[in-house]
Amino acid sequence: MRLVFAAPAWAAIACCLALPALAQDIPSPKFGRWGVDLSSIDHSVKPGDNFFLYVNGNWLKHAVIPPDRASTGGFQDLQILSERRMRAIVDGLEKEPEATLPPDQRKLRDLYDAFTDTRAIEAAGLKPVRQDLNHLASLQTKEDVARAMASIPLSTESLYDISISVDDKHPDNYAIDLSQSGLGLPDRDYYLKDDKALAAIRTAYRQYLSDMMKLAGMTDTDARADRILALETRIAQVEWNRADRRDEDKIYNPMTVAQLKTLAPQFPWDAFFAEDRVPMTGRDGHPRMVIVAEKSAFGPLAKIFADTPVSTWRDYLIVHYLHSFAPYLPKAFDDRDFAFYGTVLTGRTQQLDRATRGVHLLDALLGEDLGKLYVARYFPPEAKAKAEQLVQNLLKAYEADIKTLSWMSPATREKALEKIREFTPKIGYPTHWRDYSAYSVVRGDLVGDVQRGNLFEWNRELARINQPVDKSEWDMTPPTINAYYNPPFNEIVFPAAILQPPFFDPGADDAVNYGGIGAVIGHEISHGFDDQGSKYNGKGVFENWWTKQDRANFNAKTAALVKQYDAYEPLPGLHIIGANTLGENIADNAGLAIALKAYHIALAGRPAPVIDGLTGDQRFYLAFGQIWRTKMRDSAIRTQTLSNEHSVAEFRVIGTTRNQDEWYKAFDVKPGDKYYLPPDQRVHLW
Ligand SMILES: [Zn+2]
Repeated sequence: MRLVFAAPAWAAIACCLALPALAQDIPSPKFGRWGVDLSSIDHSVKPGDNFFLYVNGNWLKHAVIPPDRASTGGFQDLQILSERRMRAIVDGLEKEPEATLPPDQRKLRDLYDAFTDTRAIEAAGLKPVRQDLNHLASLQTKEDVARAMASIPLSTESLYDISISVDDKHPDNYAIDLSQSGLGLPDRDYYLKDDKALAAIRTAYRQYLSDMMKLAGMTDTDARADRILALETRIAQVEWNRADRRDEDKIYNPMTVAQLKTLAPQFPWDAFFAEDRVPMTGRDGHPRMVIVAEKSAFGPLAKIFADTPVSTWRDYLIVHYLHSFAPYLPKAFDDRDFAFYGTVLTGRTQQLDRATRGVHLLDALLGEDLGKLYVARYFPPEAKAKAEQLVQNLLKAYEADIKTLSWMSPATREKALEKIREFTPKIGYPTHWRDYSAYSVVRGDLVGDVQRGNLFEWNRELARINQPVDKSEWDMTPPTINAYYNPPFNEIVFPAAILQPPFFDPGADDAVNYGGIGAVIGHEISHGFDDQGSKYNGKGVFENWWTKQDRANFNAKTAALVKQYDAYEPLPGLHIIGANTLGENIADNAGLAIALKAYHIALAGRPAPVIDGLTGDQRFYLAFGQIWRTKMRDSAIRTQTLSNEHSVAEFRVIGTTRNQDEWYKAFDVKPGDKYYLPPDQRVHLW
């Protein structure tokens, strides 16, 4: 389980930023005179009626979402800045004489060239994937199907996802994780819900399946598409919903492979594991254990596997293979795939340009080689030092807060303090960089490059499965605009690229940095104490350290939060699902409260200065509203609301601030205002 700060980059957007200067001695803030763009504010909206619109309303009136993005705003501007910087790095490599480039940089350039050489891609047609397609079309037995599902190079779909991660109860060991999978749409609800918008998406998906097979030269594709959609609908019916899937108590089910075979006897597990070369002996010489997530779905999925003819599985595997490789195939495939996954699901009408997609591919397959160059060029040591200081201040504020919690018994409080003292922050970039030398890139073999890249990563993880866990590793690359908390490592991780305005600006007023990056840091720390993260102790072990009564008190508070978010309606008739987003909403709620405390601690008893007639607390909340300055397409709002753990931006601002007493004081919010909550209904967690 990784708890990340924001929805993924498919929600990505565009705009127009010049490369900023590197650190200067006395930088001036990027936004406004002291860090917030006051021209964004809509003074016709009362803060208590809609704080998101109050802070951002004027900006929203004029913001235009570019055709190749699903949204625009602060996050997306930084995303574009990262893309531009990665492109500047690659452009630099393109200008170097080939002989002078070190091998790692040459590999970056070769992969980028392979991806951007669209003439060669068109000329090759289906040749690069012909062998794989022939292979999938000739599968004969259920064992063949299971092997294809497991295959890393084929990267097609599978009923069961296999991955290697840390064992939550023994975080010094790696484990094989198995979870439900198999759907081409973002969530089971897309297949099952009686809803007009979702019914239209199902129709578009069926057409997409048919068209992709037709492009690959298959016949009778409408009937094949019907069978695939019927199969996926059956899969959706037996799978777990998102709320259950994020419940650690339900998804930690360790068992031997023998027990797995009893749980789901109709699936050929031996063939599946053999394909991935999973050793059947564990670190201690005992039989291999696997950790099964959606336990009660495993048997029914195996039954669907057995009931479905191999011919249907062949079509299913082919169409998902084509989806995985569409970006590396001729334009007709790429465009058709985008028309569904880009336009229908996120509302984008134009594909990102090829060069930008090229650097995304480098970020995905050679992320730390590229990240190394990014950090050297765009992440000055002063930024790292300042961010480290802020993280320490937030951790201190958390510690001070825990000591005063009234709803928690001294026994549990002591454990919580232990946990906060054990946190490991990681800032900017890894202490040592990944070695990609075993990954070979061939300039004229794009499909092979992608397959070898995926295989390299699998082999890297497999090779150490019986070794001690490497806790220095990062799950995000430095140019990523995001952050995460990783429960088994009890670590908070902030890539270099999020440590920039509007989140973090060394030239801005303190209140602004605490309301921006302070809230982000507080959010990540709070994941250690959200409804799931709180089930891990300070050593990262998944075990209960709460008394029964304290856990009951906590659950009552979080239940109130679920109810609040269930009531929010980002689009008419489309509600946030409070149970799916609870962990993130807790992290927002607690993170902002702690960030404000940290700001007050930083004032060290002095009154905050008043700037432009605004108090310190007012500037703090305005900065928080500003980091979520976002305009999003309706299709993207729907996809995020139904298939992501993060509430959409508007309700991350409204849902968080209205639970804080200080916000009511700062903006004179009164009974009668739309989002006013009486004091006894405000949820204070940490
Ligand atoms: Zn989060």
